Amino acid sequence: MPGLPPYIGRFAPSPTGSLHLGSLCAALVSFLEARTHQGLWLLRIDDLDTPRNIKGAADGILKTLDAFALRWDGQVAYQSQYLDDYQAALDDLAKHKLTYPCTCSRKTLSDNHPCLCRDRQNPPSCAYALRLNTDRRIISFHDQLQGISSYQFKGRQDDFILKRKDRIIAYQFAVVVDDERQQVSHVVRGVDLLDSTPKQIYLQQLLGLITPIYMHIPVIIDKDGYKLSKQTLATAVDLKNPHAVIFKLLALLKQNPPDALRQAPPTELLTWAVGNWNPALLKNVQAIEAD
Ligand code: GLU
Repeated sequence: MPGLPPYIGRFAPSPTGSLHLGSLCAALVSFLEARTHQGLWLLRIDDLDTPRNIKGAADGILKTLDAFALRWDGQVAYQSQYLDDYQAALDDLAKHKLTYPCTCSRKTLSDNHPCLCRDRQNPPSCAYALRLNTDRRIISFHDQLQGISSYQFKGRQDDFILKRKDRIIAYQFAVVVDDERQQVSHVVRGVDLLDSTPKQIYLQQLLGLITPIYMHIPVIIDKDGYKLSKQTLATAVDLKNPHAVIFKLLALLKQNPPDALRQAPPTELLTWAVGNWNPALLKNVQAIEAD
């Protein structure tokens, strides 16, 4: 019986707006990595943060990927379909006394009040978040582009949130449960998430899960040095000229696409890109400026 493919990658956009050049770049690189390894490329819509979701954004993302010929494998997974999975993993940690309720507001914490909720004896009577009770371990990992990273957890000040006060499962926690459920072997995403990785590896260790291989790719910045993001109102990618956008991205990613392919349709350009993909050209690059 054939086993699972050795490479399972994924693209996991949040439906908080349209794909811009930066998010499309993450999609393209994770696609190229999966295809050059004859792996699967899964699509997951990270739609847990309901207050930030925008109606129609998920469908818009699917249409955009389609227009760019970035075809995913299997069904689209929506995080919102898996609420029971997150709760089960949370219950598992709670059973081992690894979580505690925290009633602090962002304001009290930012006023430099240490959070003392770890020491609370009785359950709180008001709304609370759930934090992870961390120890002082060191998490080290090797990133395929950024090299070795290490982070020393410092105890209570690093106790991060797993479930928010508004009952929404936090990204750090959901992503670990999701990557496990989907058997993701390789995570490709923006270098802005490099600092999140030790938290996710910490959780994988507690839950007894395999740590995937990470590749944190450069983020795309504008000429003022700001990362393109929905917050900076980065413009959505031009759906009318997908080939021009892919050509531009491949050039930004230092892959030197040949001029002869400037007018080639997306599928042809992607076939060339799969055959010529060289991520080593992006080693230690943290940001790429787009005009
Ligand atoms: N939904 C997250 C984002 O869009 C995904 C991060 C990840 O790939 O782990 O930033």
